[in-house]
Amino acid sequence: MKIISIETKKIKLELYKELKIAYAVLKNVENVLVKITTDEGIAGYGEAAPFAPVTGETADTVTTVIELLKPALLGGNPLEIGAIHSLMDRVVFGNTSAKCAIDTACYDISGKAAQKPVYQLLGGIDNTVQNDMTIGISTPEKMAEEAVFLTKEKGCRIIKVKAGINPDFDIKALRLIRKAVGGAIRIRVDANQGYTLNSALETIKKMPALHIDAVEQCLPYWDIESHSILRENSNGVAIMLDESIHTIHDAERACKAHAADMFNIKLMKSGGIYQGLKINKIAESHNVKCMIGCMLETRLALTAALSLAAAGSNITDVDCDSFLFYDDDKTGITGGFTVSADTFTLADNPGLGIDFEF
Ligand SMILES: [Mg+2]
Repeated sequence: MKIISIETKKIKLELYKELKIAYAVLKNVENVLVKITTDEGIAGYGEAAPFAPVTGETADTVTTVIELLKPALLGGNPLEIGAIHSLMDRVVFGNTSAKCAIDTACYDISGKAAQKPVYQLLGGIDNTVQNDMTIGISTPEKMAEEAVFLTKEKGCRIIKVKAGINPDFDIKALRLIRKAVGGAIRIRVDANQGYTLNSALETIKKMPALHIDAVEQCLPYWDIESHSILRENSNGVAIMLDESIHTIHDAERACKAHAADMFNIKLMKSGGIYQGLKINKIAESHNVKCMIGCMLETRLALTAALSLAAAGSNITDVDCDSFLFYDDDKTGITGGFTVSADTFTLADNPGLGIDFEF
């Protein structure tokens, strides 16, 4: 099988309301959809959801990089995904969202060629995953209100609370949220690199009393050593790394430094499913669990992320809720998975099972 064309198309998503995290306020995003056509008449779809503060990419750079990759990829076999990555890595370093779009389109093609959904192609048996829902930073009172809405109205059993601007504010918000949702709801926190080592140590000290499961990326992405210190002093709160983990080498280094109990793998950071699987394997061999997270993807890239989540026994948690932040019905992209409260069920159609008019 040979790749005969690669097309790109930008898609703009307006969020229902702004999403505030420690270092950014998001109101809308622009993603890039990719269609790869083969000489056997099978087409595959992929998506890049670039987020400049994390991977240095925008929709414009993704489009440029995919143009740059085309001469290397045209004529290549999309079923040989390892070779496809080698070809891309020879042309350009990094640019993982652009590579993710190509990677997922190739997996979509592989699934269609094998007449299997991608999660089965990756070795998955169960097509359901339990997802969390995210609460952005606003006032502690509003955050507690939202927690009640998500848990009582939407049936969510795990919430992820954004934090990392002010430790006192964060603990106040977490106290109100815990009081509002009761003891049965699992809560994890994402500081998005916002703390110093001292403020993180102080904040984490107060988390066991609030039954916080895990805290994600307390410190800057490069500071693996301080995350190791945090982990030694976390009193049972799992230390998770997100922005620190892009490549297999990042994963290896963090494991060797005993810097994390969990990794947050995102396809946009890893360059797609192929490297995501490898990161999960490294984590598993060091007894580090993985969560599959997201940027602000449509259900196209989310289906790829959920397929990876459904395939890995070491992948214990899923944070793929970005389609809830905008009007999912207006993207024109359908299929992939269905939603019942916080349980997502992957379609059993071949490939990613995504339908849309490209
Ligand atoms: Mg995160």
